[in-house]
Amino acid sequence: MAKPDGRLTHDLDPNDRPPRDACGVFGAWSPGEDVAKLAYYGLHALQHRGQESAGIAVSDGRRIVVHKEMGLVAQVFDEPSLTALRGDIAVAHCRYSTTGAPVWANAQPTFRSTPTVSIALGHNGNLTNTRELAAMLPQESGFAGLQATSDTDVLTELIAGGAGTDGGVEEASARILPLVRGAYSLVYMDENTLYAARDPQGFRPLVIGQLAAGWVVASETAALDIVGASFVREVEPGELISLDERGVRSRRFAPAAPKVCLFEYVYLARPDTTIGGRGLHATRVDIGRRLAAEHPASADLVIPVPESGTPAAIGYAEASGIPYGQGLVKNSYVGRTFIQPSQTIRQLGIRLKLNPLRDVIAGRRIVVVDDSIVRGNTQRAIVAMLREAGALEVHVRIASPPIKWPCFYGIDFATRDELIAGRSSVEEIRAAIGADSLGYVSLDELVAATEQPRGSVCRACFDGHYPVPVPESERGKGVLEPVTSLGQHGNASTGRAPAPSGGGHYDRYHSLLASASQRPSANATSRLPRRPRHRRRRRERPRRRTRHTGRRRGRRFALPFRRPAPAAAG
Ligand code: SF4
Repeated sequence: MAKPDGRLTHDLDPNDRPPRDACGVFGAWSPGEDVAKLAYYGLHALQHRGQESAGIAVSDGRRIVVHKEMGLVAQVFDEPSLTALRGDIAVAHCRYSTTGAPVWANAQPTFRSTPTVSIALGHNGNLTNTRELAAMLPQESGFAGLQATSDTDVLTELIAGGAGTDGGVEEASARILPLVRGAYSLVYMDENTLYAARDPQGFRPLVIGQLAAGWVVASETAALDIVGASFVREVEPGELISLDERGVRSRRFAPAAPKVCLFEYVYLARPDTTIGGRGLHATRVDIGRRLAAEHPASADLVIPVPESGTPAAIGYAEASGIPYGQGLVKNSYVGRTFIQPSQTIRQLGIRLKLNPLRDVIAGRRIVVVDDSIVRGNTQRAIVAMLREAGALEVHVRIASPPIKWPCFYGIDFATRDELIAGRSSVEEIRAAIGADSLGYVSLDELVAATEQPRGSVCRACFDGHYPVPVPESERGKGVLEPVTSLGQHGNASTGRAPAPSGGGHYDRYHSLLASASQRPSANATSRLPRRPRHRRRRRERPRRRTRHTGRRRGRRFALPFRRPAPAAAG
């Protein structure tokens, strides 16, 4: 149960939640443009990929400024904060955590400043050799120590440290990225150049777009559309792109071995996004058609679980000849609130989000189409709701195969024990959710709907065949927790175990970070607007927000929220 701390939550039903993506990334190189606002709208388009925190870094060619906070994009940024972010290059990020806790220190873009260069980096995906990379840190020149508990922080430290040698960030990237395992679609920058890189498997999408006077890079093509950029191409798996006044440079740091995430096609990416040349709305409608062929039903009406089940329901209705209609109305905004529901309200669970249209449902045999089943609690509640609304029969159809295995490449499903298909047969799941029938689309038909070669998609959560090995020690969000708790020793890479403590591990670590960043400052006057009353209460805890700034050959700063822009930096 979430604590009533006023933090954003989507977990109105704590027993079930949808799969969560591991971030959206956006970058812009466009001299003369208001790149912070481009990044802001780009992030809005990618908000579905990460809703825990958001951040934008901007470089004016001399200095990088990062503004990041916990919360949705619209909660983190306002006109004054965007106006203060001036420059020609931007990197932006919205996060859902897969390695490292959902706390400010782990929000992105991550930032490092060394005597020769500063970088800000945004990452979508999850690394599978984070500990191995962390162990390399002391050997890299420029090593300054981890400042967070995320795999992204390790990567940022490695590239910034390596950039101290000949060739700067580009050469350091070409040297370090081949050593990195797992999923990473990266957008990052130094003071003058925007970089984009994608792991050799290309688990997560990453695309390049062109503006009238510049370039953008984004997790999804929908973000290009929304900022008025034309799609150029995808960043290839194993490719590093550099964008600056010298033009666009491409170099391959590893051979491509594509294993694009199949779940991006099912649920994660927006329906108006294109991956591998295939529009996702069309793909999902096609999945619905194939689902109807594999699992027909005698019914009067096909309804979606809005909104992720809608395209597949359209396809199911088309192929089956059963009329399509809306039977459930979604309250899109109820989960995006700072108001914690009372226990009475929380017990309503899915009813807070979905309400049945009784006059549509009553007296009919219903096919209800959803994108996936994780724990099964949501589907059980929906079936019960439809029966209470008068449905004669409820046939559940699912637009993905049973999810039996956890993902280690950037999607937070659940553990194998928590996944209902990891321990139950289809018939057992049908009985558990109370449906009259249950049908999943097969893996073969799902892959066929993507129009990708079978060997070039990752399907590990469905069949357990992980394309990149994941050592036991690299599993779970907390792989760096024992390492970074050693912040108290001043060296996070020694691997020594944390000292025992009765308090929460995260809280202890963050207190250490807070004390390091809340140095006395002569410039304490506020230039940023007061935070809403309901968020002020959190001030009682130590804070370290919101900006990092860095300057080439200058000092690095982490300034508390509401302090003025660092005019005296350096
Ligand atoms: S395991 Fe599943 S969710 Fe994870 S990358 Fe592979 S297909 Fe996608």
